[in-house]
Amino acid sequence: MATPDRYAVFGHPISHSLSPRIHRLFARQTGQPLAYDAQDVPADAFEAAVTSFLSDGGRGLNCTVPLKELAFRIADRLSPRARRAQAVNTLALQADGCLLGDNTDGAGLVRDLTANLGLRLSGQRLLILGAGGATRGILAPLLEHAPAAVVIANRTAARAVTLEHEFRDLGPVTGCGLETLADAAPCDLILNATAASLSGELPPLPPGILAPGGACYDLAYGQRPTPFVRWGQAHGARLSVDGIGMLVEQAAEAFALWRGIRPETGPVIAVLTADRER
Ligand code: NAP
Repeated sequence: MATPDRYAVFGHPISHSLSPRIHRLFARQTGQPLAYDAQDVPADAFEAAVTSFLSDGGRGLNCTVPLKELAFRIADRLSPRARRAQAVNTLALQADGCLLGDNTDGAGLVRDLTANLGLRLSGQRLLILGAGGATRGILAPLLEHAPAAVVIANRTAARAVTLEHEFRDLGPVTGCGLETLADAAPCDLILNATAASLSGELPPLPPGILAPGGACYDLAYGQRPTPFVRWGQAHGARLSVDGIGMLVEQAAEAFALWRGIRPETGPVIAVLTADRER
């Protein structure tokens, strides 16, 4: 039997990553011969780990916290969306030996919001909490859908304002501090792209910030509903969900880049959801 092509996710910490499970399910579903593992790689070991992985026959990598900006810097070529985001979550070895850097986070989120959850983005008022790497990755793909407004609110206001300046050529983006939200108009969709959920915290939100019939989406995910998902449920959101669908969709984009075949995501989201209910 031929040796399967090797892929991996690098990150730190990485032990709880669901990416190996997702990509192995994709491989089985599509009949693609590949192996996919998780490797704990701190930032200072990243370049050496990539070189070693590729010289051992590795074909592609996912990079997660805290490596996305480093991956952006080591890529030989960048997709337009990775160049915009200045962050790379997928590296693919090309036939000419170059390492292509892509960012599939935004496409994954938009696909989960629109195709899986049936949410409309055009003409809607969107609020993004957080101005870190994830927000960089999702801004351009969200703006492509012509929302009426995108407000970025961050604990450190200056980082949100920087993103406003970087992305305002693409649409109606404004950046502010979280405290300014008390004076903001209600929003149809609130996306939590802060790392607060990871430590069981919730960014401070004024009660009227969610429009009647609005939806809440936490990019973070876990075994149980995150504090932000629970906030949405308690404040009348018609939908309040976490980022497991985005995780599977961004993985499907990476898989398609590597293998030239797009797996079906619905069955994999169903498996991960069932895993959590056990
Ligand atoms: P990051 O670059 O480290 O940025 C973290 C952001 O969270 C910053 O804006 C930071 O504000 C803010 N923050 C951290 N703790 C906070 C708190 N206690 N209260 C309020 N704000 C807080 O992280 P990232 O890469 O953007 O990731 C953000 C989240 O998205 C993580 O939960 C990650 O797991 C998730 N994510 C999910 C997917 C998926 O596929 N579902 C993909 C990518 C990311 P300051 O600027 O003030 O420090």
